[in-house]
Amino acid sequence: MRKLALHWQILIAIALAAVSGSIIQQLTTETFTPTILGVSFVSIFDFVGAIFLNALKMIIVPLITSSIIVGVAGIGSGSNLGALGGRTLLFYGTTTLAAILIGLLTVNIIAPGYVDGKPAADILALDAPPEELEAKIEGRGAGDVVELFLRMVPANIVKAAAEGQMLGLIFFSILFGFFMTKLQHDYAEPLFKFWNGVFHVMMHMTEFIMKFAPIGVFALIAAVIAETGFAAARPLASFALAVLAALLLHSFITLPLLLRFIGQVKPFATMRAMSPALLTAFSTSSSSATLPVTMDTIEEKVGVSNSVSSFVLPLGATVNMNGTALYECAAAMFIAQAYGLELSFGVQFLIVTIALVTSIGVAGVPSASLVAIAIILAAVGLPVEAIGVLLVFDRVLDMCRTSVNVWGDACCATIIARLRGEETNVAIDKT
Ligand code: ASP
Repeated sequence: MRKLALHWQILIAIALAAVSGSIIQQLTTETFTPTILGVSFVSIFDFVGAIFLNALKMIIVPLITSSIIVGVAGIGSGSNLGALGGRTLLFYGTTTLAAILIGLLTVNIIAPGYVDGKPAADILALDAPPEELEAKIEGRGAGDVVELFLRMVPANIVKAAAEGQMLGLIFFSILFGFFMTKLQHDYAEPLFKFWNGVFHVMMHMTEFIMKFAPIGVFALIAAVIAETGFAAARPLASFALAVLAALLLHSFITLPLLLRFIGQVKPFATMRAMSPALLTAFSTSSSSATLPVTMDTIEEKVGVSNSVSSFVLPLGATVNMNGTALYECAAAMFIAQAYGLELSFGVQFLIVTIALVTSIGVAGVPSASLVAIAIILAAVGLPVEAIGVLLVFDRVLDMCRTSVNVWGDACCATIIARLRGEETNVAIDKT
């Protein structure tokens, strides 16, 4: 029997999770929690989901380090690296800006912050901040933006790795790879072989972990639905719809146009090929945890070379977040509308600029953009506690924006590979 493709297995797991999660949610009452051998279903789902997520996260530090070192050292000379780095950053900057502007436009058109022409602050009970959230974001301000850049040059690389500060790890690995090319052959060769070996082991480990993806995805999604149900999806619906519409526009129009006209590849064939990674991003809400899968998929299915993917993707998983930047801008605009704030050009410009800068530093983990939104709100003079209303939808929108983040990285890697003359499996001229 032919084995069902991984993305189908994952899709089926998502559908089954939606059904089982909602059955469990229906059965749960104040006095009754469905259990199996005395353990609640939700804790079983949480446990299995956490093992899967941990397994993916476990390989991130060695994967990022080895792939960037091998990627940079493999590119060779400084001018080659400069060209690849320059193109990558240009692409990342442009697509992120495009995503933010789409978010801005959509929220301006749909105006979800107004109900019957009036600011929705009262309806949303915006004066009642949830305490727990208040404690979490207290003291955040524009100074955090400076901090993001400070973290790029960590004083202690081991500490940065242990704390998951990927920007620091990336910076160190780029320098390491670059200076490896300056070594004599005798020293450079064993180092290169070592890091290349580590990198390949990490990729094999990823493939192994992904065999369990359908089970992990099932558990992660069933837990979310069993706990929150679909009912949570009702209030604030027009904001969520505006964000979804903008994310769809960016994913199905802006990025495909770039793929088609700059990359000369078939956009939807690329999307189909990337689907295991996009679905993993959807279920984990973490672009960092998805990185191993993104790299494996782009090399195996899309046919991008390792020298491009190992540089572009680890960098992208941290600095390039199209979906997150779009969301940050839309969320800040929504709250500003709800408070009836005068949305002058200046305010909107400020929101766009901070969304662009903070999306670079946002970590690729679930709900990470809430901190960035807090920075934006503080900068435009809005009460930071207003973020509370976003929590209703955060998980669902996080799943969607994380997929867009990963899709943006994949598009960039594919286009850069094509600009470097690579054939790939999705080129237009390929029949
Ligand atoms: N969850 C997102 C990611 O990992 C970050 C965010 O927008 O919260 O890409």
